[in-house]
Amino acid sequence: MPTWRELLAASRLPRLEAQVLAARGAGVKRSWLLAHEADAVGPEAALEVSALHARRLAGEPIAYILGEREFFGLELAVSPDVLIPRPETELLVELARAHLPEGGRLLDMGTGSGAIAVAIAHMRADARVWACDVSPAALATARLNAARHAPGVHLLASDLFAALPGERFEVIASNPPYVASGDPHLSEGDLRFEPEIALVAGPDGMAVIRRIAADARQHLNPGGVLAFEHGHDQGAASQALLVTLGYDSINDYNDLSNIPRVCVGRWKG
Ligand code: GLN
Repeated sequence: MPTWRELLAASRLPRLEAQVLAARGAGVKRSWLLAHEADAVGPEAALEVSALHARRLAGEPIAYILGEREFFGLELAVSPDVLIPRPETELLVELARAHLPEGGRLLDMGTGSGAIAVAIAHMRADARVWACDVSPAALATARLNAARHAPGVHLLASDLFAALPGERFEVIASNPPYVASGDPHLSEGDLRFEPEIALVAGPDGMAVIRRIAADARQHLNPGGVLAFEHGHDQGAASQALLVTLGYDSINDYNDLSNIPRVCVGRWKG
């Protein structure tokens, strides 16, 4: 039997990925693995680890293999039914939180894993946080994350605002699908494995953003704020859309990579 050092060195994966998956396969912490690199690998662990390494080599995202991803310092459950939470979405969380008044109501439209709603509710015990999604499978994952980190989040099944007649909020936050249907990135990397419904929105990627921005006007209290994530080349179009729809105090914000990422507008009511 090889040692852990030999097994890891033989992997074609990046070092960290090989270690993380080996630790999962062996049922140990990565720190244990690193401290025991000279130990022989047991036959069962070797089988488990090579199966996980093979999945990753076939392109499956690490987050789906592990069933979890950290977001805003919280360990979130993820499944192939939800988009993998991304660091750039933390900007949306920050902006939505900053615009939410004490005791205010916030809606996370198209919550997926629940990442946005759960992160905000976790930080803001005063807030009344709602989250909806059209996908029952996504809601099941969101429920797990809410139960673990923010049990007060009110989750419901809704096709955009269809199940929310008469409900109004101080903030509506959304990371909607915004990739254009022909975008070549869809056949690269993690996107190949993520749900199309969470990624793709028509020929220019703006179809769902348009519907959310239009309909949100009936669901924001006067002075309420819509904040949504968009693609790297959709900042100007997003701002123009909000102007056309009658929002004011419109701003677009760059993410940590300095890419236009989140558009915010105020509904005067
Ligand atoms: N940020 C994702 C990507 O392009 C897309 C997420 C989304 O459509 N909401 O990789």
